[in-house]
Amino acid sequence: MCPFCPSGAGIINQRNSTLSSESARLSPRVALDAARKPIPCNVCGSSEQQPFCPENGLSLVQCQQCGLVYVSPRPDANELYALYGETYFRNDESGVVGYTNYLRDEANIRKTFAGRLKRLERYVQPGRLLDVGCAAGFFLDEARKRGWQVEGMDVSSYAVEYARGRFGYDVRHGSLTDLDYAAGAYDLVTMWDVIEHVPDPLAYVRKAASLLRSGGVFALATPDVDSLPAKLAGPRWVGYKLSEEHVYYFSTKMLTRMLEEAGFEVVNARYVGKYVTLRLFLDRLGMYSPVLAKSLELAERAFKLSEWSLYVNPFDIVAVTARKR
Ligand SMILES: [Zn+2]
Repeated sequence: MCPFCPSGAGIINQRNSTLSSESARLSPRVALDAARKPIPCNVCGSSEQQPFCPENGLSLVQCQQCGLVYVSPRPDANELYALYGETYFRNDESGVVGYTNYLRDEANIRKTFAGRLKRLERYVQPGRLLDVGCAAGFFLDEARKRGWQVEGMDVSSYAVEYARGRFGYDVRHGSLTDLDYAAGAYDLVTMWDVIEHVPDPLAYVRKAASLLRSGGVFALATPDVDSLPAKLAGPRWVGYKLSEEHVYYFSTKMLTRMLEEAGFEVVNARYVGKYVTLRLFLDRLGMYSPVLAKSLELAERAFKLSEWSLYVNPFDIVAVTARKR
């Protein structure tokens, strides 16, 4: 077990202990027999919905009023949050859920975050920052190095304990909507790869607005269901993780609508990439083109290039920067 893992933190840790003895690499899943309820649209409240991309078998629906794509029926928030134990951050099925080894990928994650932060500083100078869904705290640490006063939160008790233990920052455990933060106190709120995971994304966006000072900046990144790669790949799009990890799929247009309704003005929206190892890149490429990925893997093994770092922009992850009016 990880030395930072909390003891007695509920079912996910019991499940992880079992996994550790059998195979520490299995991915976390919501139990097949967990209750799943139909969900109304998070943005407009309508219950009129049609199946969306049914070939991928993910119970995706599209709101007939506003076009939001989401999972319905689906498990409740506690079942969803229970996914984010230690095995979420380290498993052998990251094409399905979570990460192969989040902690081992620290250097790449830091490089990605440093680039994003540097760009954000065009819109806001270092001040007080809250990173929502901060995971192991790598973004917080990059931000602190650049002069930010940092705080974080995450629904994963495993990640929160790790971030606190390693960096000593003020990192809280829970859902953003349940945590008590000072209103109007922050210069920047970030939400990297988070909004597609949470049960009530509109409430998260509204809470972010309430925490920011007037003129403060909110930045998020999420897969874009309306991007060209998503349309071209159809049900095989890598954004459709085959678990219940991603419960909402946004377009840039939908994000803009939500942000404007919450009192933001969108100042920038662009497709962003990430630094990844060649091994991860080939793994994801294999989901689209197994033959090409297999031939490149031969070169990867021959030249021992698997840990090579490269910046990959698949043009299907949108990063939106918005200013509080
Ligand atoms: Zn709707």
